[in-house]
Amino acid sequence: MIFVCDVMLGKLARYLRVLGLDAPYLHHGGSPVSPAGDRGPSVLFTKKAAYAGKQGAILVHSNDPREQLREISGHIRPYINPDDLMTRCIECNVRLVEARKEDIEPLVPEYIYHHQASFRTCPSCRRVYWEGSHAEEMDEWVRNFYREA
Ligand SMILES: [Zn+2]
Repeated sequence: MIFVCDVMLGKLARYLRVLGLDAPYLHHGGSPVSPAGDRGPSVLFTKKAAYAGKQGAILVHSNDPREQLREISGHIRPYINPDDLMTRCIECNVRLVEARKEDIEPLVPEYIYHHQASFRTCPSCRRVYWEGSHAEEMDEWVRNFYREA
């Protein structure tokens, strides 16, 4: 399932990516009717009342991303897989790949390099991730949400 977020829901899209869900962004001009194109079945989370009632569109009311996540939790809960937590780039929505430690040495702080065993990188933007790097403050909150879900 693909969870498309409209342009007003950028923060929500990042939370969904931390949870490991496929959450692309609907850019201006994208079609709300088939927001994910041919990539597969999708729903559209939107703040635009005009899209409400369109097939697959789910209206999100809150302006607070954490509250938004609670609003849609019933829709995403069946798709949350513990193995997928923190496996996507929060910027690009691309799946991360394992990186060899020696390859990322110049890219991470020295302390992190010496204290972390494994690293992953985004094939798209080359950002390096490690345990806890998924925006630390978001990390714990998302884990709590995940435990509740
Ligand atoms: Zn990326």
